[in-house]
Amino acid sequence: MSAGRVRRRLVITGLVQGVGFRPFVYATAAELALTGGVRNDSSGVVIEIEGTASAAAEFSDRVRHRPPALAVVEDIVETPLRLRGGTGFTIDDSTHGTHGRTLVSPDVAICADCRAELRDPADRRHRHPFISCTNCGPRFTIVERMPYDRTNTSMADFPMCPRCAAEYSDPGDRRFHAQTVSCHDCGPVISYDGPDAEDRDPLTAARALLDRGGILAVKGIGGYHLACDANNERAVATLRRRKRRGDKPFAVMVAGLETARGLVATDAAADRLLCSPHAPIVIGPRSGAPVAASVAPGNPDLGVMLAYTPLHLLLFGLEEDHPGPQELVMTSGNLGGEPICYQPEQARERLAQIADGFLDHDRRIVVPCDDSVLRVVDGATMPIRRSRGYAPMPLVLPAPAPPMMATGADLKNTCAVAHGRYAWLSQHIGDMDDLATLNAFDAAERHLEAVTGVTPELLAVDAHPGYRSAAWARRTAAGREVRSVHHHHAHVAAVMGEHGIDPSESVLGIAFDGTGYGTDRAIWGGEIMHCRYKSCQRLAHLSYVPLAGGDVSVTRPYRMALAHLWSAGIEWSPRLPAVAACPESERRALAHQLDTGLGCVPTSSMGRLFDAISALIGIRQIIDYEAQAAIELESVSRGIDCAGEHYRFGLATDNDTPATVIDPAPVLGAAVADLGAGVAPGTIGARFHVAVAAMVRDCVLRFAELSDTVALTGGVFQNALLFGMTRKLLADAGFEVIAHRLVPPNDGGVAFGQLLVASSG
Ligand code: ZN
Ligand code: ZN
Ligand code: FE
Repeated sequence: MSAGRVRRRLVITGLVQGVGFRPFVYATAAELALTGGVRNDSSGVVIEIEGTASAAAEFSDRVRHRPPALAVVEDIVETPLRLRGGTGFTIDDSTHGTHGRTLVSPDVAICADCRAELRDPADRRHRHPFISCTNCGPRFTIVERMPYDRTNTSMADFPMCPRCAAEYSDPGDRRFHAQTVSCHDCGPVISYDGPDAEDRDPLTAARALLDRGGILAVKGIGGYHLACDANNERAVATLRRRKRRGDKPFAVMVAGLETARGLVATDAAADRLLCSPHAPIVIGPRSGAPVAASVAPGNPDLGVMLAYTPLHLLLFGLEEDHPGPQELVMTSGNLGGEPICYQPEQARERLAQIADGFLDHDRRIVVPCDDSVLRVVDGATMPIRRSRGYAPMPLVLPAPAPPMMATGADLKNTCAVAHGRYAWLSQHIGDMDDLATLNAFDAAERHLEAVTGVTPELLAVDAHPGYRSAAWARRTAAGREVRSVHHHHAHVAAVMGEHGIDPSESVLGIAFDGTGYGTDRAIWGGEIMHCRYKSCQRLAHLSYVPLAGGDVSVTRPYRMALAHLWSAGIEWSPRLPAVAACPESERRALAHQLDTGLGCVPTSSMGRLFDAISALIGIRQIIDYEAQAAIELESVSRGIDCAGEHYRFGLATDNDTPATVIDPAPVLGAAVADLGAGVAPGTIGARFHVAVAAMVRDCVLRFAELSDTVALTGGVFQNALLFGMTRKLLADAGFEVIAHRLVPPNDGGVAFGQLLVASSG
């Protein structure tokens, strides 16, 4: 009986829970007439199979090479076992393993099958706001601990009805072992509080509120959104005012790709991203169809996303004869820069002054998670915010790391853990400037440890002495080593890590951003460096200008323009828009500060130079969201052909530090001259962009013997115009250019770089 038969155990690690892996295993085993069983444990998926040797071989081949679409098989360990006989194939309950780790899946947008059932009047889940299956639904935001099983998620609050339980245990069903399975009889329910609450069902009342131009708080996957009709100027302006949002753009949610394309010019890559299971916000140039002016004032781009939950789809209306607004502003439910609200009581309290009504549901959100934001530049994907739909997908490390964590930077904070060849970056946490965000950091870090099983023994932090993220690490270190990593080194290491650059290799790193603490205590941000993971040498940098009064010069770009003019020895003529924008008394005080150095910190920030040029030529004098001046400068400069004519930076060698000093004075002088000659701001802006790109190329050529790979990083490279030009000039000069595609170039990617640097030393 046993001739030619084998029994084997396969332990599969990787992203294998909550992605339909066990049903896939069951179906495959059944097809190959194998007996045995499968179970999840905290080390992964454990399978035992028994049958013919050829069937067993075919089985492991399929598991390895043709796993379910959402799965990432990291490793398979096979061990031979003694034959046991038996019939059938079972799916066992989870038990706790003692070694290894399983990866929890990110939240997945509603799949095509569930979408079809949602619309089908004959289906028993017709219009069920929580329809999901093994291929879709929330994961990361509902799991409390590993392994990913219903009892360990907030779906444990909803015992399955007999029909759902039957589907859950039927190997032939799409919902076989889907932990989020539910229906009208047993699933979570929605509720509404607001106008019409007594007379109508929750959804109808909520939609009526949107129809009338009201503001609706909607509980989603990772928190509450604030929604309103994107074509109703009064509604959007009201939302902006109540949320104290200033000019910062809102994202728009639509029900389908066609509507999205009407708003934003997309290419094939952008279309794929929009429709992907990650369902991020994709930023692109507007394509014509208008939305209310207040959605993204003064911005040539717009962020759009597709409805990614059944509840969102219901909000848009499934029936053609009852259309509501088809373009909804969907912005994080929070006040100012606070973290997104995700608990009902907290939302009621903090959003009370903003929302006219609340569309709620009773499925708990375990951790908050904002929408992800990406943009597509020349067909390549650039993450701006990596959060819902991506966290906690692992990133591969080029070399093994000890169990460790990194606390990131204080702006756009994310944290990260690593162990072995894997790193996990948290969801977007926010700017670490208030207690609420610090608490969110604490919670996100604990949850990340819980879902990855990493217990950090080493902590990596930014070298900035004032960073709250670093202070948090020192407070909680409890004897563990804390390693400081320089900000721009971390930025460059992050790009290197994404591209699997070997620890023995080095790159020329271009790190252009707003603020980072340098090794000489100055504020860096216009840096060209020779980097390995374990070392970093500054090769060139923008010359220092005084940042007078810190933040006040960040929010008032005209002050940066004046500081740059002062440094360049150019007179503050009142004919210059930036000079005119600076009140007389402030001008006198600023002049005094610059002359004496009082309250000034030297900065080589490229972000601040973009601010200065923007103000200098009259684009933007005062900002109310980060990088607004630079974004508007890019906006006027796009599509303008300056026929190869551009400004030129000076390049000089500093004898003290041997670094090349990049002098913007000639650029400022030329821009002022052009302004005086009546050249259009867009042309000046375009000449400036080309000047920066050409300067990067010229600098890199000076150091070409060190490496032929150039890494572009830092928030300044979110500027699509600059990024595209720089990449092209470098490629034309024969360099291999690497840039971010998995983590953001801004400070949201710093934690990943910190892991790489700290683990190499
Ligand atoms: Zn589905
Ligand atoms: Zn049910
Ligand atoms: Fe930075």
